[in-house]
Amino acid sequence: MDGFTYTGLPARVIFGSGTTGQLPAEAERLGLTRALVLTTPPQAAQGEALTALLADKAAGLFAEATMHTPVDVTQAALRFYHDTGADSVVSIGGGSTIGLGKAIALQTDCPQIVLPTSYAGSEMTPIIGQTEAGRKTTQRTPKVLPETVIYDVDHTLSLPALMTVTSGMNAIAHAVEALYAEEANPVLSLMAEDGVAKMGAALAAIRDAPEDVGVRSDALYGAWLCAICLGSGGVALHHKLCHVLGGSFDLPHAETHTIVLPHALAYNAPAVPDAMSALRRATGSQSPAAALYDLAMTGGAPMALKNLGMPEDGIDRAIEITLENPYFNPRPLEAGALRNLLQNAWSGQRPAA
Ligand code: NAD
Repeated sequence: MDGFTYTGLPARVIFGSGTTGQLPAEAERLGLTRALVLTTPPQAAQGEALTALLADKAAGLFAEATMHTPVDVTQAALRFYHDTGADSVVSIGGGSTIGLGKAIALQTDCPQIVLPTSYAGSEMTPIIGQTEAGRKTTQRTPKVLPETVIYDVDHTLSLPALMTVTSGMNAIAHAVEALYAEEANPVLSLMAEDGVAKMGAALAAIRDAPEDVGVRSDALYGAWLCAICLGSGGVALHHKLCHVLGGSFDLPHAETHTIVLPHALAYNAPAVPDAMSALRRATGSQSPAAALYDLAMTGGAPMALKNLGMPEDGIDRAIEITLENPYFNPRPLEAGALRNLLQNAWSGQRPAA
């Protein structure tokens, strides 16, 4: 076996159905006395339920979390955090809510308990992205890694069908790139392969049984494995392209991941034979890029960047920005081949089998 480096991240994880009931005990365990509950406006009722559950350990509810963690929302939340005498945060929601909790932890070093309700995976990463004056900047710091993550599958039963697919594909993208990132190692590869297999099979099954707790549990378990891949591993061309497209053309996060992933994987396939073997096993297909495209399309996801509002003449600009400050990638970045990749993603063409 070749040498490798593996970075395990310290987080306590509780997984199952009905695990939200363990929140007060977990707060006690961390020594929290006043937790500020965070969520988005549409999930305010879930936030209120947690406030009630925490009883005298709740400092209040801030239900204004917003996509891409704008700093003005963080400042308002921080004022509320200090005004209420909070000593910690409890975040319930997707990546946007978790991002707000991380932004508060970055400023205050407070402990975080997170209850994820989507498959995006931010809860297992020391990564925070924040937006100011239309620019999103990202940093990695252990300060923002949540102390405890309570995965309660019951919160994912309400995830709308479209978001289930796009959020699931977002998770799969983390695992796919961990297989061939610079930080790839055999331990993460085990998790990545199983993460893709579990999430892929679950997404297909959820179409017929969206509220089946067993199938949703497999999806959430897969999402957790994929999230570890993002937190402990690395990323490559796919994530670079999604960051460029999201930042420069204001494209939605999970949908952009869904569209780009099959094309970025097809681009890298010739350079990563071991990763492709793992993905053939995980997808049960000889053509993993085409299989991922089919999985998303059958689930009703948008398959073309043009349908997200990206202008065709933006393709060259996106390539320029990608090449200005590229991430590591196993296959060298060539402008012509990148143009084909983005053109195919823009028009929604299925990658060749
Ligand atoms: P989101 O958190 O923005 O959620 C989208 C909408 O769905 C919100 O209104 C949310 O309240 C709602 N929602 C979430 N779960 C629901 C449920 N179970 N039922 C009904 N509605 C639900 O979307 P997301 O894709 O989870 O997160 C995207 C954001 O997270 C982006 O800003 C992205 O950059 C960030 N992110 C960060 C990391 C990281 O490591 N820092 C990782 C992944 C994603």
